[in-house]
Amino acid sequence: MYNSLIFELSKKGRIGYSLPNNNLSGFSLSDKLKRKASLDLPEVSELDVIRHYTNLSLKNFGVDQGFYPLGSCTMKYNPKIDEELSSLEGFTKVHPLQSVDSLQGSMKVYYELEKKLCALTGMKAFTFAPCAGAHGELTGLMIIKEYFNQLGAPRNKIIVPVSAHGTNPASAAVAGFEVVVVECVEDGCVDTKKLKELVDSDTAAIMLTNPSTLGIFEKDILEISKIMHDNGSLMYYDGANLNAVLGRLYTTSMGFDVMHINLHKTFSTPHGGGGPGSGPVGVRSGLEHLLPNPRIVLNNDKYEFYNSASSIGRVSSFFGNFSVCLKAYCYILSLGKEHAKDVSSLAVLNANYIKESLKDYYKLPISNHCKHEVVFDGLIDKRASTLDVAKRLLDYGYHPPTIYFPLLFHEALMIEPTENESKETLDQFIDVMKKIATEDASVLTTAPHNTIIGRLDDVKAARFPVIKFKDIGKYE
Ligand SMILES: *Cc1c(COP(=O)(O)O)cnc(C)c1O
Repeated sequence: MYNSLIFELSKKGRIGYSLPNNNLSGFSLSDKLKRKASLDLPEVSELDVIRHYTNLSLKNFGVDQGFYPLGSCTMKYNPKIDEELSSLEGFTKVHPLQSVDSLQGSMKVYYELEKKLCALTGMKAFTFAPCAGAHGELTGLMIIKEYFNQLGAPRNKIIVPVSAHGTNPASAAVAGFEVVVVECVEDGCVDTKKLKELVDSDTAAIMLTNPSTLGIFEKDILEISKIMHDNGSLMYYDGANLNAVLGRLYTTSMGFDVMHINLHKTFSTPHGGGGPGSGPVGVRSGLEHLLPNPRIVLNNDKYEFYNSASSIGRVSSFFGNFSVCLKAYCYILSLGKEHAKDVSSLAVLNANYIKESLKDYYKLPISNHCKHEVVFDGLIDKRASTLDVAKRLLDYGYHPPTIYFPLLFHEALMIEPTENESKETLDQFIDVMKKIATEDASVLTTAPHNTIIGRLDDVKAARFPVIKFKDIGKYE
């Protein structure tokens, strides 16, 4: 069943609001500013609006409804206490242009969160200006570029492994760098021999996520950082996979100089559909002066804004997405120092449990111990594609894992269970995955069968979209 458009529910004269008199007597807009024709909005009651959008929302799927093992995205449960605290009026009704005296509470949150992130990563300082992971990458790369500029020896190349997330080479290109790709060896780790051949006096940095997008820990990380540092180059850490190592090791101990964290992934904020996110960027000691302006400092028990003369400047209007930072702060406080470690151990245990349980049904190209996520290369017998498996999972009420990423394998199926899920949830998912692996190919290749909309022709949908407009009143 498809929902009517809200325009189809419209009845002339029906309204769901009442506005007070504006009391602006004597005030009139010039004709130039006045609308010529009516806006033609749907005329509906409050109940029509509520039912319409509630019914639409029920066709969606979220982490509060069921298991959401989307690899690379860290879709974890978002505790309701985080939502509740971040919606307190004292936080939602502040404006960055208020007087500093009236902003002390909010500034304290940023300041304290910065201290927590430093304690977890070993970095010296963080900025909260970037609004997403990719925005953090761009900011980090601008810092790296500026570092070499200020040394008077600009460098133009960024090395990115072939397994990298697509945003890495994209951010490097946007920051004006030339992207150089380094291959991986069979176990999924960076080929250090090739890396040695690639670095030269124009190499500014390497961008790495560890564990990699294959869920594999980069075992030669210390050798890699030595190769880079011996060459005067920097190490950039894409912290999107921090979930796998949280509370276990310092990013700085792996030799990284600059990093970003995806607060919306590791520290629990509902995300997807484009945001909101937060990608704070951290730098090791000696690089703080390059961070975006302004920063928050504590001076005689008072929080103040501080601008560094050698900063890269601003990367967003104020301080990024405050509510995401608040939720992250709540999550970190509710874990406490001793339980931060449990995040990584449970996430890694859960991924390995799935790996071992499914390896006789799905092809496992890298069988080493994985970290927070596991990548299969489709069904062992290839009776159906990874797309078919993902579509069939919808019939059983699961959000499918990430498919066809990373690009290293043709039928990639990337599962990330996170630390939140119980053994019972994992067992049910494993049972369904095994069942799918033995189902008739004809059932799989035509799935989904139980959803509101069946199998779509992806190419046709992109090339010939049929969109229902209210005037056409047609839906195909
Ligand atoms: C999600 C992700 C990013 C990008 O982060 P956004 O917040 O989506 O911009 C970068 N790298 C990796 C490995 C990721 O998983």
